[in-house]
Amino acid sequence: MSAYFVHESSYIDEDVIIGEGTKVWHFSHIQSGAVIGKNCSFGQNVNISNNVRIGNGVKVQNNVSIYEGVELEDYVFCGPSMVFTNDTTPRAKYPKGNAGYRKTILREGATVGANATIVCGHTIGKWAMIAAGAVVTKDIPDHALVAGVPARQIGWVCECGEVLPDNLICPVCGKKLER
Ligand SMILES: [Zn+2]
Repeated sequence: MSAYFVHESSYIDEDVIIGEGTKVWHFSHIQSGAVIGKNCSFGQNVNISNNVRIGNGVKVQNNVSIYEGVELEDYVFCGPSMVFTNDTTPRAKYPKGNAGYRKTILREGATVGANATIVCGHTIGKWAMIAAGAVVTKDIPDHALVAGVPARQIGWVCECGEVLPDNLICPVCGKKLER
C-alpha cells in the first residue's frame, strides 16, 4: 500500500495501482486496471477509465475524462474541461468495444490547454503545447505550439513553457531547442 491521497467523495475501483504522493481530489472515479504513477494530481470531477496508464508527475485539472486507449507519459498537463475521445466514428447502436478504440498518446511534458479536444488516434509530442480551445486532428511534433480548429502549428515552445523566438533560444531558461 503506497502513500497516496484520495478524497472521501471519490471512488477507486478494484485492481488500481496509484503511486506514492499522488492526490485524487473531490468527486472523481478511477476505474479498474488503471495504473497511475507517483506525485500526480487529479482535480475535481476527473474520470480515469479502465486500463488507462498514467506516468509520474501528471496534473489533470477539473472536469477531465481520460478514456480507455489514452496514455499519458510523465509530467503531462491536462487543462480544465479538456476532452479526449477513443472512437472517431461512434454509433450508439453499433458499439465497437475496447478492441475498436484508437490509441492516443501524450508524450512526456505535453500540455493541453483548457477546453481543447484531442481527437483519438494521435500522438502529442514531448513538451508540445496545445492552446486553449484547440481541436487536434493529427500528430503533433515535439515542442510544437498549436492552436485553432483544426489545430495548426503557430510556433515552438521550450520545455519550461516559454514560447520561443525565431532563434529557438529560450529567453527565460537559456535552453536552445535543437531540431
Ligand atoms: Zn525555457
